[in-house]
Amino acid sequence: MSNITVEDFFNIRQENIIKIKEGKENGTKVVGLYCTYCPEELILAANAIPVGLCGTKEEPITAAEETLPRNLCPLIKSSYGFAVEDTCPFFHFSDLIIGETTCDGKKKMFEIMDEIKPVYIMQLPNIQDLDTTFALWVSEMRRLRTKLEEALNVKITDEDIWAAIEVINNERKAAKRVSDLNQMDPPPLSGEELLTVIWSRSFTTDKVSLTNMLNEFADDIEKQAVAETNAKKPRILLTGCPVGLGTEKVIKIVDDLGGNVVAMENCTGYKTLELQNDTSLADPIEALARKYIQIPCSCMSPNPYRLELLDRMIDDFKVDAVIDLTWQACHTYNIEAYTIQKLVREKEIPYLQLETDYSTSDIESLKVRIEAVLEMVE
Ligand code: SF4
Ligand code: SF4
Repeated sequence: MSNITVEDFFNIRQENIIKIKEGKENGTKVVGLYCTYCPEELILAANAIPVGLCGTKEEPITAAEETLPRNLCPLIKSSYGFAVEDTCPFFHFSDLIIGETTCDGKKKMFEIMDEIKPVYIMQLPNIQDLDTTFALWVSEMRRLRTKLEEALNVKITDEDIWAAIEVINNERKAAKRVSDLNQMDPPPLSGEELLTVIWSRSFTTDKVSLTNMLNEFADDIEKQAVAETNAKKPRILLTGCPVGLGTEKVIKIVDDLGGNVVAMENCTGYKTLELQNDTSLADPIEALARKYIQIPCSCMSPNPYRLELLDRMIDDFKVDAVIDLTWQACHTYNIEAYTIQKLVREKEIPYLQLETDYSTSDIESLKVRIEAVLEMVE
C-alpha cells in the first residue's frame, strides 16, 4: 500500500508554488497556459514547466471588471483579474503565456492581458476535419516550437518532443485510469474527490512523479472495498464549462444533496483523457496536431466527438442524470446545450442545464433545481 490520499493531490498546488519559486532562482523557465489545446509536450520538450492559469476564484473578478465588461464569462474575468492584480503565483512566475483563439471572450481578453505580460497566441482552427485547417494547425504547432526556442533560449529536437510525448501519454492514461474507477458501482470517489485529483494535475512541476502518484492511488483504490452507502446515490455526469477548486459549487451541492458526480466530461475532466499522441507517426509535430485538434470543446463547429464521448460516458459510468453547467455569457456551451439535451433525452435520462457564475448568490435556487433532478432518479 502506498497510502496516496486525495489530500496529497490537493497539496500539489501549494507544494509546487515553493518548488517553482526555487526553480526560478536556479534558472528554470515556466510557461503559463489557459486551455487544453496548448500542447504541454512542447513546453516540456523546451525543458520548461507548464502551469495551468485558468481562474477558478471569484475574488479577482471585481478588479477585472474595471477593464473587462461585466457581462463576460467569470472564468475569463477571474483569469484576467489574477493577472492584473498579480495575485496568482503561477502567473507571476510565468516567463511566457500561451493563449489560443478559442472563444471570442478569451481571445479578445488575451489581447489586453498582453499589456501585463507577453501573451503568445496560437491560431486554433474551429473545425476539426478539413485538410486546409489541419495544415494551419500543424504550422501553428511548428510556430509555437520556434517561439519557445526563441523565448526560452533552447533548442527543441524531435527526440525531446518524442520523450515529452511519452511522459504526457502516460500521465493522461493514469488520469483516465483514476477517472474510470468511478465506473464501479458503488463509485469509490465523490465528485469533490474526483475534481481534486484531476484538477490538481495542472500545477505539478514533475509529470513523471504525478503519473506514479495517480497509478498508485488507482492501485490502492482497486484493492479497497467501497462503502456500500455510495451505491444508493444517484450517479450524475457533469458536462459543460471547465470547473476547478473554487468553482465546484454545483459538484458540492450534488454531493450535499445525496447524489454523486461520478464523471466529469468537461475539459478539466475527461474531455482530453482518451486522446493519445500517435507514436507511430514520423513527425512528432504532426502527432501533436492530430491529437489536440480532436479535443471536443464547444468552440469547434461542428463538435461531434463531444456527443460521441457523452453517449459512451453515460453508458460506461451508468449515469442516472446529466447536469450541463454553463458559465454566464459562455455562448458556445450555452448554445450547444440544445444538442446535448437532445442526446441525453434520447438516452431517456433526466437533463438539467444550469447557467450560473462564480458567486454564491444563486446557491438556494441551484439547490432546488438539482434536488428536483435527484428526486427524479432516486
Ligand atoms: S472549455 Fe474549451 S476553450 Fe475553455 S479551456 Fe476548455 S478547451 Fe479551452
Ligand atoms: S467557459 Fe466558455 S466563455 Fe468561458 S473561457 Fe471557456 S469557452 Fe470561453
